[in-house]
Amino acid sequence: MKFGTKALHAGIEPDPTTGAIMTPIYQTSTYVQEEVGDHKGYEYSRTHNPTRDALQKNLAALENGSHGLVFGSGMAAIDTVMKLLKPGDEVISTSDLYGGSYRIFTTVWQHYGITFHFDPLTDKEKVKGLINANTKLIWVETPTNPMMNIIDIKAMSAIAKGAGALLAVDNTFASPYLQNPLDQGADIVMHSVTKYINGHSDVVMGALVVDDDELGARLATLQNSCGAVPGPQDCFLVLRGIKTLHLRMERHCENGAEVARFLKSHPKVENIYWPGFEDSPGYLVAKRQMFGFGGMVSFTLKGNRLKDARRFCAATDLFSLAESLGGVESLIGHPASMTHASIPKETREKTGVVDSLIRLSVGLENVEDLLQDLKQAFETI
Ligand SMILES: *Cc1c(COP(=O)(O)O)cnc(C)c1O
Repeated sequence: MKFGTKALHAGIEPDPTTGAIMTPIYQTSTYVQEEVGDHKGYEYSRTHNPTRDALQKNLAALENGSHGLVFGSGMAAIDTVMKLLKPGDEVISTSDLYGGSYRIFTTVWQHYGITFHFDPLTDKEKVKGLINANTKLIWVETPTNPMMNIIDIKAMSAIAKGAGALLAVDNTFASPYLQNPLDQGADIVMHSVTKYINGHSDVVMGALVVDDDELGARLATLQNSCGAVPGPQDCFLVLRGIKTLHLRMERHCENGAEVARFLKSHPKVENIYWPGFEDSPGYLVAKRQMFGFGGMVSFTLKGNRLKDARRFCAATDLFSLAESLGGVESLIGHPASMTHASIPKETREKTGVVDSLIRLSVGLENVEDLLQDLKQAFETI
């Protein structure tokens, strides 16, 4: 089955009681049993809920995996992956990564005896040098946030397999439409469902997908034991959002490309970060492992002045100044003071998150209007 068909049909059955074509919101905490031990597969909604089950099956299909699990947020999904580890274990992680991921690694999990090594993961030999007997997990985010670096998933998979470690990929920026890490050798794919998958800026949710029964069972046990599950209403909304994921991603890619080209030729732009340019360092790997370049574009302003970046972010009209990304509407963000404020200045500047860096989540508006909005914002600086 092709992606669009799976988005609409995988895991979705007409409701057995009424024939309702849309998966109902099973807003219930518990399920009546016929007699002791005789139930219909549902006992308690932390463990199983039909609305959530439909979404989990659908997501597993979109990522070509066998087991999907959803959580109350992307961070809860990441937290669950970390709970596969034990004190003394070591993790090698992308250094340019989502601020919340950096925060949970360094301020939560480090205190439980896990050691983290942060590296750009673009030089294979350097990554191999970080491996030792305690390495249990390689954590990859690609494209990275906000620098849009591309990490070779196949190469990281070979290194992880050689070390007997798991490879987890945060696939939030690409969405399952543009990249399927399990097909490239990853063991776990993670999503902030909040972003492209739901796509309508009205739900916070996370997901994990794996293609291994044992790993799926371990993660399901953690999901049930720790309990960070989303409610059925949110699962319903995400199921609804997914029905147009393929169409939305096509338009995000088209609009993203137009905006990136406009910025590249603008005299007030210093650097532009978008993997679709042939001279971008990640271009060849992105072309091989992704089906499109997405709608996320970052850039810096000539002179690298904080006040210009602030003025620019305040001047856009259609691009709303807000955290998050991947929704139908365009957003503008200032990573240094917003998403990446939890990373020390010196650390963030090393990865390129300088004061004038601006990140755009290019939405589904008509692109002429988006370009016009950016043009008038440039005139204010
Ligand atoms: C937003 C985001 C997260 C965290 O997800 P939440 O749903 O906000 O908890 C993790 N990784 C990336 C790349 C993100 O953009």
